[in-house]
Amino acid sequence: NAKDQGRDTFRFYSEHLTRQAFQNVLIDSALREAVSRQEFRLAFQPQVNTDNGSLLGLEVLLRWHHLTLGTVSPSQFIPQAERTGLIRDIGHWVLEQSCLQGSRWIAEGLQFGHLAVNVSAPQFRAEDFVAQVRKVLADTEFPPEKLELELTESVLVHDTEKLIENMHELRALGVMFAIDDFGTGYSSLSYLKRMPIDRLKLDKSFVDHIVSDDSDRIIAGAVLALGKAMGLPVIAEGIEQEAQARVLQSLGCKHFQGYLYGRPMYGPRIEVVLRAHLEKKT
Ligand code: C2E
Ligand code: MG
Ligand code: MG
Ligand code: MG
Repeated sequence: NAKDQGRDTFRFYSEHLTRQAFQNVLIDSALREAVSRQEFRLAFQPQVNTDNGSLLGLEVLLRWHHLTLGTVSPSQFIPQAERTGLIRDIGHWVLEQSCLQGSRWIAEGLQFGHLAVNVSAPQFRAEDFVAQVRKVLADTEFPPEKLELELTESVLVHDTEKLIENMHELRALGVMFAIDDFGTGYSSLSYLKRMPIDRLKLDKSFVDHIVSDDSDRIIAGAVLALGKAMGLPVIAEGIEQEAQARVLQSLGCKHFQGYLYGRPMYGPRIEVVLRAHLEKKT
């Protein structure tokens, strides 16, 4: 009987795969359908300059709501999509939708600074990545200088000639680059002098306990000093408390992103924020 057979199959899998591996199989097959089933949405989180209260930009963060799996966190499904290579299609969708949304906002007279889009290593290293970005920018008529790509150090460890060439090619279009989760990677810092990098994002893990932990304060101070010496702005990620911002400000930090300033928000809510910023200016 088919039902019993199904049960046996399940027993076979549950014995041979860990719970996490089984979950990954479910996620993997569901992910393949997610774009066509319109289960993805983009959330936007403000990046602010606390010196003058201005909006520097918005980071685009992917959200996935699946009918039976529920809301799956990007820290769970992104690594999975990176392993299977699916991240290339997903990343393309994110880039296209971000630029479409940005162009719509520009047409409506809304200002948002730049849009910061996360790009995974397998996505950035794909043969056609530069061509893909070029096409999306052209199709959506999004201004390249308003696009910032967030790369982690994992992208930069294999700093082949090709990778550097691709970065310079995108830079020639006007596209900017931020190093995400700065300080948590394994690579040497030598890429900073060979690659066109515009911003360092100080990782949240150095911010969390900065009020009480001397080492975190020393590391954050060193990153800020490095940024200053190299003329690279540093943005601190994951600020939840005023006290964290004050410590970072005393170390020279001006740019911030975190729940204290705004959570990641869907279109309609972020538009309220954009309108408020516009009114403050006029
Ligand atoms: P990330 O790029 O470092 O993004 C920052 C993460 O910190 C986001 O988590 C954001 O929601 C969260 N965050 C921001 N401020 C605070 C705060 O004050 N407190 C706390 N507790 N968290 C804060 P999220 O959205 O869950 O994304 C996790 C990671 O998934 C991202 O880290 C990024 O590496 C990846 N990711 C998200 N969207 C995309 C995407 O479209 N493409 C790719 N390749 N990766 C993405
Ligand atoms: Mg990021
Ligand atoms: Mg980060
Ligand atoms: Mg991260």
